[in-house]
Amino acid sequence: MSILKHYEEKLDILKLSGNFRQFTANQQNDHWITIQNNTMLNLSSNDYLGLASKKHLAEQFLDEKSYYFSSSSSRLLTGNFEEYTLCEKTLSDAFLGRSALLFNSGYHMNIGILPALADNRTLILADKLVHASIIDGIRLSQSKYLRYRHNDLEHLSQLIAKHHDDLEINRIIVVTESIFSMDGDEADLIQLVKLKKQFPKVMLYVDEAHAIGVRGHSGLGCAQQYQVIPEIDFLVGTFGKAVASVGGYLICEPVIRDYLINTMRPLIFSTALPPINIAWTTFMFKQIQTLQKERRTLAELSSYLQSEIIQKGYSSPSTSHLIPIIIGESEAAVTQAKVMQEHGFYIMPVRPPTVPKNSARLRVSLTASIPQFEIERLVDIL
Ligand SMILES: *Cc1c(COP(=O)(O)O)cnc(C)c1O
Repeated sequence: MSILKHYEEKLDILKLSGNFRQFTANQQNDHWITIQNNTMLNLSSNDYLGLASKKHLAEQFLDEKSYYFSSSSSRLLTGNFEEYTLCEKTLSDAFLGRSALLFNSGYHMNIGILPALADNRTLILADKLVHASIIDGIRLSQSKYLRYRHNDLEHLSQLIAKHHDDLEINRIIVVTESIFSMDGDEADLIQLVKLKKQFPKVMLYVDEAHAIGVRGHSGLGCAQQYQVIPEIDFLVGTFGKAVASVGGYLICEPVIRDYLINTMRPLIFSTALPPINIAWTTFMFKQIQTLQKERRTLAELSSYLQSEIIQKGYSSPSTSHLIPIIIGESEAAVTQAKVMQEHGFYIMPVRPPTVPKNSARLRVSLTASIPQFEIERLVDIL
């Protein structure tokens, strides 16, 4: 029997249940995407401000200077080019002078920070719906961990109260996203900060992957919108979405930054991103701070679609530009998504186990460059 047979059989099971995944080739042009000759409005993109396709920005950037395309080692060896220092300084200046540390991706960031900081005397309390990269980080750590019901701060505070005075526990790290990927709803950062202040052992870890660029006056995320930047111990995000670059960042206290540089394995044992990427991140991070108009357009488009789908009788928990349209049955969601794609809207179905049973959905991800009349057409078809 072939040694590969095992994997073939596992894949056959996925195929039979309709859950086999493949890459599909696509071409993209502004907010349009073409797959197998079908050109559709791209409603599955993380390019929330529509910046990734703005060629004039890349031209402007490349005209200014030339850069290395590899850093050739990790930052602790020779990879720490001046672009790194400059990018972290730019972040630090924006985030009220707090320390900033860069990572190769949001995934590296989330699988690296918690294992470095959380030992077996740490309790991690994570929202039930946090991103897979955070789950992987928790699994790699030595700590005890519990999940609290999604956005249920009552449940969270019960868990904190129950474990806070345990002598075996030195610290409790509460982990959440600010805007959640699958439901498009938000954590109540103001209440979380209040809760943290009642308990000296508690620290807050907030992932702003979907909020950086999108929320706050200068796009610094929900932490800026709700004025809690100084209160969040680990404020993280990614540059791969609205910022239209690549990489992850942490805003923290200086001692945490030093500690991670000494202990965080994905930071120490991986080649640093190329200087050209870091310079591009700095360039784009400066851009997003000025895009108030795009943020307003995206917010208006989002509340339009949210209220229209509720009016059509669908339920949706969204308060953001990530808008699930809850269908229920998996097969119905797959069929609906196909219909939408035939009408020229590239929308993907999301099914259990990614989301809870009976809550299969179409997931619409809006961007600021989508014209309102296209969304009106979508509503008509729903
Ligand atoms: C996308 C995402 C990440 C991963 O970021 P990458 O830079 O793409 O690796 C991490 N956390 C959340 C919440 C995300 O949505």
